[in-house]
Amino acid sequence: AKSDGRNTWQFYTPEMNVHASRLLELETELREALQDRSFEVWYQPQVDLQQKRVVGFEALVRWRHAQRGMVSPAEFIPLAEETGLIVELGHQVLEQACRDIAVFNTSRNQPGYVAVNLSPRQLKDEQLPDYLDALLSQHQLLPRCLELEITESTLMDQMDQSLPILHRIEQLGIALSIDDFGTGYSSLSYLKQLPVHSLKIDRSFVQDVTTDRDDVAIVSAISAMAAKLNLDVVAEGVEQVEQLQILRDCNCNLVQGYYFSPPVPFEKLLEACNRIESE
Ligand code: C2E
Ligand code: CA
Ligand code: CA
Ligand code: CA
Repeated sequence: AKSDGRNTWQFYTPEMNVHASRLLELETELREALQDRSFEVWYQPQVDLQQKRVVGFEALVRWRHAQRGMVSPAEFIPLAEETGLIVELGHQVLEQACRDIAVFNTSRNQPGYVAVNLSPRQLKDEQLPDYLDALLSQHQLLPRCLELEITESTLMDQMDQSLPILHRIEQLGIALSIDDFGTGYSSLSYLKQLPVHSLKIDRSFVQDVTTDRDDVAIVSAISAMAAKLNLDVVAEGVEQVEQLQILRDCNCNLVQGYYFSPPVPFEKLLEACNRIESE
């Protein structure tokens, strides 16, 4: 038995050892992948239903592991967060995303934006605003071509530290989006304090919208509130045409999900956009 550092005792089991050594291995490999810059960034279109147009993309990191195949971000993001490696990983994702959107926009009439997920640790980094400013200049990007997604639980836990950073980011003209909206346990009052531009309705509300009247009520209430607060609202995880119709009725104009396209590598993005816009 061994103390876990708090006031309790835990017994190691063989399963825990396997788990712990797998984590250690993963951490070593994570460092190597950062060194080699071998993470990929894939993109999922966000569609404006009224305009029938792809207006932006969410950047989602992918780790193509030599032995394990594709490792899910759900598995390595928490580890990267815990070990602090997320700051470097976050920089690599931001750089790739900015480079890609700059190239991509040269092939489009109207410039789109790329929405990049930020971890709690990145939102404690006081250098983040200057870093972002430099990144925009380097790629000659308009600030509105970059959006940052943050979760409400992140914000509630570290509002004091993050709020000044978020205000400086806003001053750069970069939009902020609240991810997984509705799943946190926070009060709505923070919406007043924060320089937020959009809300992303969590997939858990969209999933059963065709069968659960409560979910319809929640989605339309969030949309109505967003409209009054002058915020955009994006529904995530839209998979079926029936869901799409209900979201339209709820005045939710921006949607993202497998129905239009899964996340795709950069090389496949133009093709995905053309297909969506010609439907
Ligand atoms: P998220 O930000 O909520 O991203 C949406 C997730 O839903 C993505 O999973 C996406 O592939 C998936 N998805 C999109 N459309 C559908 C759909 O129609 N149905 C279903 N069932 N799923 C859909 P993914 O790519 O595995 O990412 C998981 C999470 O990992 C993300 O959740 C985000 O929290 C985190 N993540 C991904 N990339 C990054 C990154 O670059 N930085 C940070 N900090 N976190 C990231
Ligand atoms: Ca997200
Ligand atoms: Ca989300
Ligand atoms: Ca989610």
